[in-house]
Amino acid sequence: MNALDLVIRARRVVRPAGEQPGAIGVRDGRIVAIAPYDAELRATADVRLADDEALLPGLVDSHVHVNDPGRTDWEGFTSATKAAARGGVTTIIDMPLNSIPPTCDVPALTLKRKTAETQAYVDVGFWGGAIPGNVPDLRPLHDAGVFGYKCFLLHSGVDEFPPLDHAQLQAAMREISSFDGLLIVHAEDAHRIDEATQPDGASYEAFLNSRPRTAENDAVAEVIDLARATGCRVHILHVSSAEVLPLVAKARADGVRITAETCPHYLGFTAEDIPDGATQYKCCPPIREAANRELLWDGLRDGTIDLVVSDHSPSTIDLKHLDTGDFGTAWGGIASLQLGLPAVWTEARRRGFTLSDVVRWMSAAPAKQTGLTAKGGLDIGYDADFCVLAPDETFAVDATQLQHKNAITPYDGRTLTGVVRSTWLRGRPVDIAVDPRGRLLTRGER
Ligand SMILES: [Zn+2]
Ligand SMILES: [Zn+2]
Repeated sequence: MNALDLVIRARRVVRPAGEQPGAIGVRDGRIVAIAPYDAELRATADVRLADDEALLPGLVDSHVHVNDPGRTDWEGFTSATKAAARGGVTTIIDMPLNSIPPTCDVPALTLKRKTAETQAYVDVGFWGGAIPGNVPDLRPLHDAGVFGYKCFLLHSGVDEFPPLDHAQLQAAMREISSFDGLLIVHAEDAHRIDEATQPDGASYEAFLNSRPRTAENDAVAEVIDLARATGCRVHILHVSSAEVLPLVAKARADGVRITAETCPHYLGFTAEDIPDGATQYKCCPPIREAANRELLWDGLRDGTIDLVVSDHSPSTIDLKHLDTGDFGTAWGGIASLQLGLPAVWTEARRRGFTLSDVVRWMSAAPAKQTGLTAKGGLDIGYDADFCVLAPDETFAVDATQLQHKNAITPYDGRTLTGVVRSTWLRGRPVDIAVDPRGRLLTRGER
């Protein structure tokens, strides 16, 4: 056998099924050998992790708003993929909205790819968008390699990405199911939000009351009904209301092809602890009460929630209106791409979960959900994408030291557990001071 390019040896090789000491052999960017820790493997480079380090599959963050082109003062592919690399994330899937144009037809996707091509420090794939009138664009986007389609059922926050009404949602799902595509849904119901009280200045409670659980519950119920009727595969984005979990579980038991995600901020923060005026915590759906948060953890424990991804949705600092602290006018979105892993691990370990659980939620499950069969695992045939984590080391978050373009995040000043020591892409460490080596990913590739 020819020499390997790399052997990486770790006391803790972490997979969803468990962890053990081991050695991983890499050739041409792929994992080609799995062996005991001290196995004699001939390789050009033989790397031994420190005793306090664990080897994880690189994370797959399938919910990132890069906002490039068009709103590059909010983020951009260079800063987003550098932040991903620093956070142990080796693959991101970019959301279709907040960039201009949004990714709702093939020319927009082509422009995105062109924009990302020279800036990607990690691998990047793209979601498309389903908006009123673009049913004819869905199949061409599928053929061009998007991973699925995001839609809204209420105002998205930006005018160029309008929501679908019931009939438009049904039409999109019929079309998407015709080629077995995937619809991913921001599930808040417009009517319920209209009926609710308005947000009132700096009051977090008033903001929370303006985005009630019933809006999420009703929207999820509508999506499930249409998924039953059309056979379309659906995914519920950023579940905040734990009341949707029984609906998802029941639908799945009935054979509806449905998956669900939640985000680090819903698992870590609570409404009770958010100070009035602290708009860095504003996101939609909102962060809810402590009791609700624990039910989300139960949803991860019993498997109703499949994955945890960041929903990194940054903006410039001025759009957060910290001066007035007005939750009504502040941009809704939390920046956390670089911090997702330690944010989740800090809370998970407290509740008795293991690193294997975290790897299942943040690497394996998002890879599976997006059909990236060479991502999110540490076994033969996978891309040699690694995250080297010191799981017992703590650090204090300093927003100004993150790679995010705008230094505002609710994690600022918090102490988190789990330091990402290095990130590897296809068998080589990612160095954000040198050329970007990320690839653009296409749905279905191996
Ligand atoms: Zn959303
Ligand atoms: Zn989002």
